[in-house]
Amino acid sequence: MTEYRFTLQKYKRGSKLTCPKCGRKQCFVKYVDTEGQIVFPDYVGRCDHEHSCQYHYKPSDYFKDNPVALEKQRSWKPQAKIAQPKSVDYIDRDIMRRSLANYERNPLFIFLSCVFGEEETSRLFQLYSVGTSKKWGGSTVF
Ligand SMILES: [Zn+2]
Repeated sequence: MTEYRFTLQKYKRGSKLTCPKCGRKQCFVKYVDTEGQIVFPDYVGRCDHEHSCQYHYKPSDYFKDNPVALEKQRSWKPQAKIAQPKSVDYIDRDIMRRSLANYERNPLFIFLSCVFGEEETSRLFQLYSVGTSKKWGGSTVF
C-alpha cells in the first residue's frame, strides 16, 4: 500500500536522535522511505514526548514545504548528462489543455492524493500542468 511507503524508522540501538525542538536526547525517530529513494533530512520525524514536546514533522509536510524534492525524485536519472537541445518540438496548447483531466484514473494523482489529499494534489497538477494520457491506463504526462 502506497500510503505506508513512508514510515517511522524501526527502533534499533542508537537509531533515536536528539529532538530538534525540545533538544532531549534519543527521543526522536526519523521517517524513512521504504523504497529507499528519498532520504529525508534529520528534522523529518517524531518526538517521543507526545505531550510535552509534540514535535511531529511528517513526510507530507516535507513535500508541502519542499515541492522540489518530489520533482527531483521524478526526474532523477543516474549521472544524466546535461544535453544541449538541438531542436525543440512543442505540443499544441489545446492538446496539452485537454490532457488536464481524467485524474480519477491517473496513478500519480491517486498516489499523491493519498499523501497530500485531493485538493492539494489538484492544485499542484494545475500549477505544473500535469495531465493524463491515454496510454497505459492513464499514465502521467507533463
Ligand atoms: Zn521533542
